[in-house]
Amino acid sequence: MPDILRPEDKQAIISAADSLIEEAIDFLQGMLRIPSINPPGVAYPECASYIGERLAALGYQVEYITLSAAENAELAPYGEGLPRTNVLGRLPGPQSSPVIHFNGHMDVVPVGMDWSTPPFGGEVRAGRVYGRGAADMKGGIAAQVYAVEAIRRAGLQLQGTVEQSGVVDEESTGNRNAGMGLLVERGLISSERTDYVVITEPLNIDNICLGHRGAIWGEIQTIGRQSHGSTPAQGVNALEHMAGFIDEVTGQLAPRLRQRQNHYPVVPATANAASLSFNVIQGGTNVNSVPDSCCVAFDRRLVTSESLADARQELWDILERRVQTIPDFRYEYKERYAAAPTWVSAETPLVQSFASAIQHILGRAPGYVCSPGTDDQRFVVQNAGIEQCIIYGPGEITQAHIVDESLAIADLLVSIKIMALATAELLGVQRHA
Ligand SMILES: [Zn+2]
Repeated sequence: MPDILRPEDKQAIISAADSLIEEAIDFLQGMLRIPSINPPGVAYPECASYIGERLAALGYQVEYITLSAAENAELAPYGEGLPRTNVLGRLPGPQSSPVIHFNGHMDVVPVGMDWSTPPFGGEVRAGRVYGRGAADMKGGIAAQVYAVEAIRRAGLQLQGTVEQSGVVDEESTGNRNAGMGLLVERGLISSERTDYVVITEPLNIDNICLGHRGAIWGEIQTIGRQSHGSTPAQGVNALEHMAGFIDEVTGQLAPRLRQRQNHYPVVPATANAASLSFNVIQGGTNVNSVPDSCCVAFDRRLVTSESLADARQELWDILERRVQTIPDFRYEYKERYAAAPTWVSAETPLVQSFASAIQHILGRAPGYVCSPGTDDQRFVVQNAGIEQCIIYGPGEITQAHIVDESLAIADLLVSIKIMALATAELLGVQRHA
């Protein structure tokens, strides 16, 4: 792909970014003041309108993607029936292609206690913007919108088409969902109409994230038989069966998983190995009855070289062996969420444009990293079949989901410049006469 950006165009874009940073901060602060907390998913229509109005003011064609009550119930089962609204802005260029789609999720996780600043205040202190979602990832949405503005205000016209979306329910995952999953299901993002997708999650300004690990969230129940606590031999103790199973997994499977390292560096590095963690346990009703049921919820994380099928089989093998060897061992296995690992090639125009923009602004080559958790990239790559989809955005991953979450304004500005240069190169620009 030719480098069509002239040095003076690059410089004009960088200068334009410098002069619009206050406007980008103001846009971000407005978003931070809308408490779009998920779960359950409140203030989504308000947040979508706020973004949509800004996009319309900047000249985008704006559409809102909403759900019927039935779709809402199916796609957002934990959403308490609250309305789900996504926003999509489109800025057509003189050529119908290429199309670059920038995406961010509008939902934020609950705030917790002990904030030193109002979590929905958007305060600026010592060069950082504070608030839930500043890093994860309303900062990314502000950056994606103002990166495109930097190109336009440099007096350049993009030749291809830009799309910007703000979606719901990234934080609550789902095999399907009411946000990015829905946009893909409705064909609004598809391999026929979309060339490049950039999801602006925070993985640090010098990293290009090419994928994420996989996950299985499931429940295992052991099934026993009640008896009086004074005659336990008459019953089958589901809790003790579960204890034995947990012991085998933590003692034998978990150490094997820790040996499985991700082939590509995960940010943070502490998430580099495969893992399985039991995070909820329920069993028994009263002290003098042998429990007939015990249930655990587990969180299995897969490195990119693992498959969902193998990860499941590994657990099923342990369970089935126990059925064969332990009298009265019975179980049920259920999954609530499963996402295969995702990884895309670095040898694409999208990645190379971002790499050269990072080199230009920061003076170094990017890190190619893997996200520890799953994110909306899975819908784009696995369901829409779009290979050219990366995660790049401002903010440190360590800021996500913490008390006093914040975003460095310097990082916001750098990411705007990098996204602007990459976009200008990918879509091509023409100087206004
Ligand atoms: Zn996020």
